Amino acid sequence: MNVFAIGLNYEDHIAEFRGKRPENPVFFMKSSTAYLPNPKPFFLPDFSREIEYETELVLRIGKLGKNIRPAFALRYIEAYTLGIDITARDLQRQCRTEGLPWEMSKSFDGSAPVGKFLPYHPGIDLQNLHFHLNINGNTVQTGHTARMIFPIPQLIACLSQYFTLQMGDLIFTGTPAGIGPLQMKDHLEGYLEQDKILDFTIQ
Ligand code: MG
Repeated sequence: MNVFAIGLNYEDHIAEFRGKRPENPVFFMKSSTAYLPNPKPFFLPDFSREIEYETELVLRIGKLGKNIRPAFALRYIEAYTLGIDITARDLQRQCRTEGLPWEMSKSFDGSAPVGKFLPYHPGIDLQNLHFHLNINGNTVQTGHTARMIFPIPQLIACLSQYFTLQMGDLIFTGTPAGIGPLQMKDHLEGYLEQDKILDFTIQ
């Protein structure tokens, strides 16, 4: 299973990250051992002092595809949910400063918790979904999928130029603004529209 993650896909996050608006989708990969299905807890790693959440719509691929055209891209999605792109921000900052690859900050074990998958069908407008994350009962991040810079069909078309998309692959579609720290004992609850579909703790 491959886990793809899109970066810099919301204007407000680019501003808080002091990044540049990309001309094409920016992506990276997380390892298969990053995948952490709910409700398993996330264990804070020893190698970082700055673990942060990024709340993202996550898509699951349902059939094999290569060089997929945007017009057909939605047919390759079988399910969707919310996930947290957990990031060791201190390591990421160090890697960016030194111009090094940043896998150690983004791809480590457990860094891709995902919630309960909802089946996708063409009646669902994936580009019109509110989502938010509560930590210990307080809303810390909100987003709306209409604000993606590159919409979902374009993301799938782009990724499938480079990689054969396979059944079960996951695509994290990028975070809006509002990223922040995670601490021991935090209780994370993610909502898509009114439905709680993500629920786990930090240990
Ligand atoms: Mg992210």
